Amino acid sequence: MSDQAGRRTLATVLAAGREALPPGDTARIDSEVLLAHAIGADRTTLYREPERSVSAAENAAFEHLIGERARGRPVAQILGCAEFWSLSFAVDEHVLIPRPETELLVELALERAAPDAVIVDLGCGSGAISVALATELARASIVATDFSTAALAVASSNARRLCADRVRFVRADWLAPFGAGCIDLLVSNPPYVEADDPRLVDSDIRFEPRTALAAGPDGLAAIRQIVEGARGVLRPGGWLLVEHGYNQAQAVRELFRRARFADVTTAADLGGTDRITSGRR
Ligand code: GLN
Repeated sequence: MSDQAGRRTLATVLAAGREALPPGDTARIDSEVLLAHAIGADRTTLYREPERSVSAAENAAFEHLIGERARGRPVAQILGCAEFWSLSFAVDEHVLIPRPETELLVELALERAAPDAVIVDLGCGSGAISVALATELARASIVATDFSTAALAVASSNARRLCADRVRFVRADWLAPFGAGCIDLLVSNPPYVEADDPRLVDSDIRFEPRTALAAGPDGLAAIRQIVEGARGVLRPGGWLLVEHGYNQAQAVRELFRRARFADVTTAADLGGTDRITSGRR
């Protein structure tokens, strides 16, 4: 698309990109972010200099990015990064894209962690939770696990860049490597989507690893395993915090109580959705 004088400008190219995306809440912001990336500028440039010319090469790069987004690939994967806790995490198709609501898990963990706490993050994906905690708790010992070696590679590189390698990564199946009573704070954003949830095939989350999303018929398979095992590895008084789906709070609190956790509560995220349940051994 070009302007009246036949020129390709930031304004005309942006409008064309927006039109090429399926209509929806994010078409505008997605095309802004992708155009800014294609021209190597930040988003404000698009509105400060709408008349600026766009070269053929810039336009081709933008069209490629828009094509990827139009196929459904999430912007974070197209750009290779996502912001979480005001840090820029590298992401790829092997890790769940960090979600803003998971910042609540970090906040609640910080409220409960002693400065020198031993903290374990189960199923760490990109490392968002453990790395964010490491940037806040200079003296804590933080271990993060994942079963996927590809995810651990992403997480380690994030830790190297964002928190001076302060997180130790271990390949593990949930709680397998931990001994009795050694952990002060156990946190996890495990998979919790129901295995037959149609979003796994028809929404953009199909581009994220299935193993990071789906957890059995009721979505609770991983949470069940974590809650049942947590009591054994937490020291007395230690906390377990897990993220879960909007409709799972009651079932998750029940799992906590059955595993004899005390002070079991659920906190709602900024959207008002029940999101994190915590309890104390
Ligand atoms: N919040 C994600 C979603 O529903 C799920 C993340 C997860 O399973 N941990 O898209």
